[in-house]
Amino acid sequence: MPTIELRHITKEYENIDEEQTYALQDINLTVRDGEFVCVLGPSGCGKSTLLEITAGLLSQTSGEVLLDEVPQSGTSREIGVVFQDSALFPWRSIRRNIEFGLEIAGVSRDDRRDRVQKTIELVGLAGFEDKYPHQLSGGMRQRAGLARTLVADPRVILMDEPFSAVDHLTRLTLQDEMIRIWQKEKKTIFFITHDVSEAVYLATRIVLLSPRPGRIQQIFEVPFERP
Ligand code: ADP
Ligand code: ADP
Repeated sequence: MPTIELRHITKEYENIDEEQTYALQDINLTVRDGEFVCVLGPSGCGKSTLLEITAGLLSQTSGEVLLDEVPQSGTSREIGVVFQDSALFPWRSIRRNIEFGLEIAGVSRDDRRDRVQKTIELVGLAGFEDKYPHQLSGGMRQRAGLARTLVADPRVILMDEPFSAVDHLTRLTLQDEMIRIWQKEKKTIFFITHDVSEAVYLATRIVLLSPRPGRIQQIFEVPFERP
């Protein structure tokens, strides 16, 4: 079952530079339920633009984004986003940062408490829930950012270079955590990175973008089963 379909997505910005205005040109991609798709390409090739369009945070110049075969305009509760900088509220504890979206959505207090607790355990933040963001390492803050997205239980998670600001060893740990969470929660993941080894490690399929303008250059199926 296709979850997300990108059909002929083109994005033009008014002068990126003198001769080039297209950030993306004719992107066609179907992401199926349960896939872990990595979009790989050099800086400036349009990865963030593609993610923002897929999330409904930015409008395309032409083309369509479909979710379960329904054309989308704007954001959807079925799609969660995790950015490189988790941008937690500094004045709220980790628990209350994770809870925030559920409060806004009017989820009852008891339901909130259960879901927040379960998510804290899922992402490995147990014991840190009463700390404030500045008291945590970059890796722990990224776990909190991920928890804030997961707690809303979206089917699809879009991730924009979520681990590129943390040190190398922490990044390897977070990659393993991501695979574990993906397998356990059966999410569909659309993950952006400029790091080849990260894409190869995480993905079930890799979409390689070529720069200026961003086009799909090649799609690789990752040919092995995970343990
Ligand atoms: P990536 O995420 O792969 O680094 P981006 O999607 O951020 O690429 O950017 C793709 C291209 O579009 C780059 O050349 C970038 O400078 C340009 N770009 C991105 N956002 C804007 C904008 N708001 N206005 C003009 N150009 C932009
Ligand atoms: P990333 O590191 O994810 O590739 P960038 O550093 O390219 O992101 O861009 C960060 C933000 O700045 C994005 O929201 C992007 O849309 C915007 N941006 C990038 N290039 C330009 C540009 N030439 N003009 C205006 N905004 C831009």
